[in-house]
Formats: sequence, structure tokens, C-alpha cells
Amino acid sequence: MDTVADAEVFEMMINGKQKKAGHYDSVRNPADLSTIGFAPRGDAEALDEAVAAARAAFADWSGRPEAERQEACRAIANIIAENQAELARLVTLETGKPLKGLGAEFEIGGCIGWSQATAEFSLPPTILQDDENARIELRHVPVGVVGSITPWNWPLLIAVWHILPAIRTGNTVVIKPSPYSPLGTLRLVELMNEVLPAGVVNVVSGGNELGALISSHSDIDKIVFTGSTATGEKIMQAAAPGMKRLTLELGGNDAGIVLPDADPSVVAEGIFWGAFINAGQTCAALKRLYVHSSIYDDVCDALVAYASQVPMGNGLIETNALGPLQNQNQFEKVKDLVEDAKRSGARVLTGGSPLGSGYFYPVTLLADAKDGMRVVDQEQFGPVLPIICYDEISEAIESANHLPFGLCASVWGSDKDALAAVADKLVAGTVYVNKHADIAPHVPFGGVKSSGLGVEFGIDGLKAYTNIKVINCAA
Ligand code: NAD
Repeated sequence: MDTVADAEVFEMMINGKQKKAGHYDSVRNPADLSTIGFAPRGDAEALDEAVAAARAAFADWSGRPEAERQEACRAIANIIAENQAELARLVTLETGKPLKGLGAEFEIGGCIGWSQATAEFSLPPTILQDDENARIELRHVPVGVVGSITPWNWPLLIAVWHILPAIRTGNTVVIKPSPYSPLGTLRLVELMNEVLPAGVVNVVSGGNELGALISSHSDIDKIVFTGSTATGEKIMQAAAPGMKRLTLELGGNDAGIVLPDADPSVVAEGIFWGAFINAGQTCAALKRLYVHSSIYDDVCDALVAYASQVPMGNGLIETNALGPLQNQNQFEKVKDLVEDAKRSGARVLTGGSPLGSGYFYPVTLLADAKDGMRVVDQEQFGPVLPIICYDEISEAIESANHLPFGLCASVWGSDKDALAAVADKLVAGTVYVNKHADIAPHVPFGGVKSSGLGVEFGIDGLKAYTNIKVINCAA
């Protein structure tokens, strides 16, 4: 284990107690590559222990009254709120995102809001028939032990999205955060354990191999995974034996279409934050923009002007609105895609080369981008927006829909009928009109095609953590 003064050692939580590991990995701040803490490297034995604890806790937790599980969700919201400054700082340190703006404090605010909202949802039984022939009741029952595997971009918010509906509906959980950003989740689960019975929520940390062990574990009943499409496909295969239930929230390559009647100065701000929230490291960020030829130059100019006043830098400095890329792989990938785009004829309007320290890459707007360029066809997951010119709306719709992704899409303009007509034709789990990347706890969210399987949030999201059970009685 490296030794760095002041870097804290974090622990896994299994059955309500801290669990030590044989090895600890340093976790680095992407803004300056300093070590900010050490995460335990969990192994198969720790995972088995966590699953056994979750299984043992399930028997009691699944039988608790609804009101008690609602109260537990409220208690989680409260304990997150009481510790929000500490959690937000941890998120900034391990992801690089700014504390302010659409950054770490916003993320922790989301954790509180989603926990509160999940407390208030319910899935009462439905009477499907009650007459002289039969009484038939539909119940939603918990699936059992849920294995949750999360990415590094919104680590705590995604943890809450996985854990809260699972426990609200009577399941128990073993969560594994990304090895790039495990510290906040280790602390979050420790806090949750202050208000939950032992074993209801357990956390193990480690690398991809630990994720693979979770997705094939014989005593886990459901996997909820947020991450890349490539990993989602592996999980789906590993989860096949025993028919594990699956929720997969995967990659996106969201298109935005700007209609000829859009006012560039009005839409620029929404498009900018739709694309550059969390420096583009957001599944539902706008990742390619199709703009009508009649306003193409004006939209490019408006975006460049907006970008010029958005400061990027160390997230702990409160004036910064954007931070670095979270890890070296992502940094190299973004750099490579931009270089490839330049060679293929894209014109750099702003940004276009790394900033020199940490994993900072500037906001990069690429004009004259075309379908077929890698920066357009692949998910960049970074602060890069290729802008493509179109003449006919049918071409733009075809371009928006032709890739294997289908998380979100958006259309921007003034005429309501024209906006609605385009929205109807876009193939995605969510189509936004004059906004992008806007989510809420009561609105189901999920991808079509290779962007995912199943939905999160709202009543549909709760249902995803249950099996149906029909009680069919003769009259
Ligand atoms: P990733 O798939 O590399 O890793 C995500 C998690 O999966 C990590 O915890 C990792 O350790 C684990 N993992 C890796 N290999 C595994 C395996 N074989 N079996 C089981 N688990 C394994 O993704 P990432 O790089 O952390 O995140 C970026 C990706 O996540 C992007 O594609 C992004 O679009 C997607 N994402 C999607 C959503 C959504 O809601 N749709 C939200 C956030 C991120």
C-alpha cells in the first residue's frame, strides 16, 4: 500500500460492520493526480460474505411493513442531508467535478431528493377480478438479493438510484462502485448502515473482476448495472444461468436537432449544458448536434460565445463550473477522437487540445463534422460536441436514429407542431423538446436498442425490483 500523509483508508461494510481487505488501492484526484484515499480491494470471499449477509437480512426486511421501509428511505435522505458537505467534497475529490453548479453539491441534492421521492412511492396490490367466478389479486413482491454495479461519473446519485427502490420494495443489496470512484459510495453505505438493519445494504469495492463475480453469483437474484454497453452485454451473458433479473442503463450517443426557426441566442445555453454537464461524462448528455444550414454559423457562434465564459479548473475552487475528465483512459479516448476528427476534416471552433495538467480537456466544439467520423458515431463521454449541418429534416432524423444507441434525443426550435412532428420520429427512451438531460424521480428513464434494458425511476422503476405474484382464488 502506498503511504500518503492524510489520505484516509476507507472500508467495506458487510452485515453492518466494517470489513477489512488484504489489499488497498490508492484513489486519485483527476484534477492533480494526488492520492486522496485508499479503497479496499474486495475478493470473492468478501463478496460471498456480503451476499450471505444480504440473504440473511432479506428474510426479515422483505416482511417489514410498508411504512417502516418508507421511513427507512426518509432516514437515508436525512442522514445524507446531515453529511452533505463531506459527501460533496469526496465526490469532487474523486471525480474532479466542481463542488458548485451542476457538480457535486447538485449530485448530493439529487441523492436527497431521490431518496425522499422513493419513500413516497408505493406499489399496492391490485384486484384484477372480484366476482362470482373468482377473486384475483396481483401483488408485487421483492426479488431477493440485488447486486448493484455502478460507474464513476455520478457515483453517489447512481448508487441511490440503485439502492433506494431496491430496499423500498423489500430487497437487500450488495453494491460495488467503480474502482475509479469508490470512496464516496463506501462512506455513503456506512452512513446508510447507521439507519438500516444490518445486512440490508452492503458494499464491496474492487475492480472489474469483482463486478464479473457479482454478475455470475448464484445467490444474487437481480443485477442493476449502470455503465458501458460493452460491459452490459457481458453482464447479460453472465447473468443468464438462473435467469437473474436485469436492469441495464448503458451508453448513449444522444442526438440534438436544431430546426431552422430556432433562435441561436435562446437555445445556446440549454444546448451547452445538455452537452457539457459534468464535462460531457453523462450518459444522457447531448453528444452530436444537427443544425439546419440556414442558422448553422449562428448556432456555432452562439455556442462558442457561451463556452468562452464557462470556467474549467479544480473543482474545489468554487468559481469553476467544469472539471477534468475522470480518468486517464477517458482522457486518452477523448484526445484520440478529436485528433481523428481533425484529420477527417472537422474544424475546431474552440478547444481541441489538452490543457496540460491533470486530466483536463477543454470544451471542444467541432464544426463541419459528419456522420461516419468516429467522434460522431462513437460515444465520446467527454467535453466535445461535433456539430453537423443538414438541409432536409428527414436527413437529420435519419442520422439521429441510425446508430445502435437510443438513450435520449432532443429537438430545438419555436413552432410547436414542427417540434412535435420531429419528436414523434426520434427513436429514444426519452425525447426532449427545447431541453436535454433533464431527469426527475417520478419520470421513468431508460434506453432503447443498445442503450439499455428496463427502466429506472417512478412507479415503473419500483416495479423493476419486484416479481409479480398472482393470488387467484376460486369463488
Ligand atoms: P464500465 O462499464 O467500464 O464500468 C462500470 C462498472 O462495471 C464498474 O464498476 C466496473 O468495475 C464494472 N465492470 C467492468 N467490467 C465488468 C464485468 N465484466 N462484469 C461486471 N462488472 C464489470 O463503465 P464506466 O466507464 O464506469 O462508465 C461509463 C459508461 O457508463 C458510459 O458508456 C456511459 O454512457 C455509461 N453510463 C450510462 C448511464 C445510464 O443511465 N444509461 C449512466 C452513467 C453512465
